[in-house]
Amino acid sequence: MTGGDDLRANEKAIDLAPASDAALRFIGWVRTPWQSRDDCPRQGRLDGPECRLELDPVWYEALRGLEDYRTIELLYWLDKSRRDLVLQSPKSDGRTLGTFALRSPVRPNPIGTSIVKLERIDAGNLFVRGLDCLDGTPLIDIKPDRCAFTPKAPSKPGDAEVQED
Ligand code: SAM
Repeated sequence: MTGGDDLRANEKAIDLAPASDAALRFIGWVRTPWQSRDDCPRQGRLDGPECRLELDPVWYEALRGLEDYRTIELLYWLDKSRRDLVLQSPKSDGRTLGTFALRSPVRPNPIGTSIVKLERIDAGNLFVRGLDCLDGTPLIDIKPDRCAFTPKAPSKPGDAEVQED
């Protein structure tokens, strides 16, 4: 999609009933340098500009221990996206592909994910690099990077190693 909601050639939208089966609780807001979708990177880079996660103070305690991780995973709600396309023609290559074959922000539930570098935590603000979303994007969740977990030792020979998730 471009900065607007117009369809490109070969794209296909469907009629959808209003979504009402799940309610998310935003935990904060993402503050980034980007005000327009056209200015945002398509994917963040760990050496990209520093961005700030502004957490709702009720969640400050939930950060305990997160400072031990150098990389964390963020989930955010790409709130400016339309949600009704089954086929999309990304601007970059002109091919038409199914929504689930793309990481486009346009999807039935516009959840974006990024692994970001955690620079520091200061008074409930998390400073990170690696984002690709608009300033003011709602934050849904924060998790330690999966790969940063040390697998637990197998309890007996032959057991699969278990990851703490
Ligand atoms: N890294 C995430 C992922 O892979 O799930 C998001 C990738 S998506 C391709 C990133 C693009 O979404 C940006 O380049 C911008 O065009 C668009 N975008 C960013 N913030 C948005 C928002 N709040 N609402 C709608 N679109 C947004």
